[in-house]
Amino acid sequence: MYQGELESDIQYLPGVGPKRAALLRSELGVARVKDLIHLYPFRYIDRSSVQRIADVPLDAAYVQVQATVVRTMLMGAGSRILYMRDVNGALRADGTRPGYGGIPTEADVQAEKSIHFNTVKRLSVIVSDGSGEMEMVFFRGIKYTFGRLQPGQEFLFFGKPSAFGGRINMVHPEIDNPLLPGSGAGGVMTGVYPSTDKLKSGGITGKVMNKLMGSALALALPEVRETLPDYVLKEKGLVPLPYALQHIHFPKDAQSLQKAQYRLKFEELFLLQLSLLKQKYIRSRNERGIPMPAVGADFNACYQALPYTLTGAQKRVIKEIRADLVSGHQMNRLLQGDVGSGKTMVAVLTALIAVANGCQACIMAPTEVLAQQHFANISKYLRPTSVRVALLTGSTRTAERRDIHQALQDGSLGIIVGTHALIEDTVIFHRLGLAIVDEQHRFGVDQRAKLWAKNADGIPPHILVMTATPIPRTLAMTLYGDLSISVIDEMPPGRKPVETMQITERRRPALNRFLRDQIALGRQVFIVYPLIFESEKVDYKNLEQGYERTVADFPFPPYKLAIVHGQQSAEEKRFNMDAFVAGRAQILVSTTVIEVGVDVPNASVMVIESAERFGLSQLHQLRGRVGRGSDKSYCILVRDEKVSKESQKRLDLLCSTEDGFVLAEEDMKMRGPGDLEGTQQSGLPVSLNIASLAKDGRILSDAREYAEHVLEDDPMLEKPQNQQLSAELRKEKYHKDDYSRIS
Ligand code: ADP
Ligand code: MG
Repeated sequence: MYQGELESDIQYLPGVGPKRAALLRSELGVARVKDLIHLYPFRYIDRSSVQRIADVPLDAAYVQVQATVVRTMLMGAGSRILYMRDVNGALRADGTRPGYGGIPTEADVQAEKSIHFNTVKRLSVIVSDGSGEMEMVFFRGIKYTFGRLQPGQEFLFFGKPSAFGGRINMVHPEIDNPLLPGSGAGGVMTGVYPSTDKLKSGGITGKVMNKLMGSALALALPEVRETLPDYVLKEKGLVPLPYALQHIHFPKDAQSLQKAQYRLKFEELFLLQLSLLKQKYIRSRNERGIPMPAVGADFNACYQALPYTLTGAQKRVIKEIRADLVSGHQMNRLLQGDVGSGKTMVAVLTALIAVANGCQACIMAPTEVLAQQHFANISKYLRPTSVRVALLTGSTRTAERRDIHQALQDGSLGIIVGTHALIEDTVIFHRLGLAIVDEQHRFGVDQRAKLWAKNADGIPPHILVMTATPIPRTLAMTLYGDLSISVIDEMPPGRKPVETMQITERRRPALNRFLRDQIALGRQVFIVYPLIFESEKVDYKNLEQGYERTVADFPFPPYKLAIVHGQQSAEEKRFNMDAFVAGRAQILVSTTVIEVGVDVPNASVMVIESAERFGLSQLHQLRGRVGRGSDKSYCILVRDEKVSKESQKRLDLLCSTEDGFVLAEEDMKMRGPGDLEGTQQSGLPVSLNIASLAKDGRILSDAREYAEHVLEDDPMLEKPQNQQLSAELRKEKYHKDDYSRIS
């Protein structure tokens, strides 16, 4: 059966054949013609942007130079030159020419043939464009690149310049054939496709890719069907799909490229949002939830006894939660709020609503320390009420545990706080109506799934996931696209800004003097060490040395130190934490275990050692531990004299703002969304081909809004004008296993 050009096997495309087809399949996942035309360039060579080597600034992100190969050198261990050649052939290491009068001898020819590439550590290529020289360095694909970069020939090099040994170099630049005057298909820009050494040595160079793409489009473009309805194209001003495909590969000019990119990115994000929102709609329609119409006397008693008034943001969020709880459908809500924004209060009031409606509530924290702290705070808030609360963790004693299990089962215990000990099979609830999960990313998907099944009568509990990791709204929309999102975007009044500064080891004596002054004023100090290499042993050694130095600098009496780290037993941890929380110890030396949650209002100084090793969000979380009381607070970043450019940027940013969302946005821009702390496990529901969550936030918001608009009119996409959309969403990539049940 003839399936058309789009579906046909890539090996039948002119210029491909079985061998290249196998390479395209294994290296790029391209099996059919349609796969090829949906493989987009990741950048474009712009003829107008070639720089002179002499003008290349060292701090440029990327540059493109067009230069001739002067000399290539194969280096062995210890930077020994194993082989060197220039346009006239082989050269000795001292620069003299072997053979007679520059004519290579038979021995030289043999030498070149018998190079053992497995002993070559590095290929160094000196290039010149007349204005200056530059070195190109390669550690991989040496044999192929050595063969390609023949002295005397000209190439385009694209990469990130850096200074090394007084010369500018580029490590693993991308190499393209030079731009000849009048070459190309008349366009200013040539697409550059993903490539590998295997592809290149198999003959599929950039030039060949461009050629293949040209034939693929010529054959298949007439078959390409529009995927978006006419009204969408009109309302959003998008170019048709065939136009977009033509110009994403062969842009006529910058404008046509921009239009093509916008269309393809919008489509991708729009379909993604449509699929997420549609699932959310289906679920909210189908998933029964326990109706919770009552607020109750305990809620009011707790509310009235608060020593402060709720912020506007807290009130708004509680209203949003209330609306979910009375709806008769299951709540699935993500509550985002920066450290110190007052999420605990919201959790407590929500739990009291559950209790008022004859249900129980559990509040789950990722660590023992945090569960204890929650328990202490929540107990205080509950004092004016008649509701019983208990703490259940791995270190709860057997007798007490038995009592708690009993009270949970007979319903006499209204609220339980704990760690994942809460989801063990032995824990049976009388009627679990609400599960609150703090710092959701530390819980595995399986653990969350267990929560769903905890309710005996089969109706799943309402779920409230709280996170202090400020996920940029654009990313949250996609990662948690089918969850409702509430944001506490307002801090309780009266919080003083935390003064943040960077110092180096040289100023340690001044730092110690400052810490002694603070302690003399009755304040407390955190000193945090990084987890190095993620190996607990190394981490511990680092911490221990720091601890010993701190002990020497702050001797007893009068100074008392507490130490907390991952290798301690729960008991030791609690003992040390308690000493600090109760004010018996003035200094807490720790690894990042205190990162989440811990609340010691009297602590006014956060010292972060080797601050350059921390991620931006982590630094921000740590800083959030201070500035909770009425005293002026400080965050002191002790850093290496010399740090990488990225580290420097992170530290500078942290000093410049306290807004967690601004920091998260910047973090995402610097690192890409995949790396964003706290989201590694969640991953993206659908892989994106052209759009970037980090860079295309504006298009994403637009696509989200428009998807909402489309679904408002036709929630199941059943109307005739939405048939294409419906068909797109039936595609496999939108039907991965149920990622939407993050709770
Ligand atoms: P989060 O869990 O969001 O980091 P917490 O709930 O621990 O923040 O609250 C941080 C501190 O702010 C606590 O000491 C709490 O008592 C206080 N707090 C919470 N809400 C308010 C408010 N509306 N006004 C004043 N203080 C508040
Ligand atoms: Mg908290």
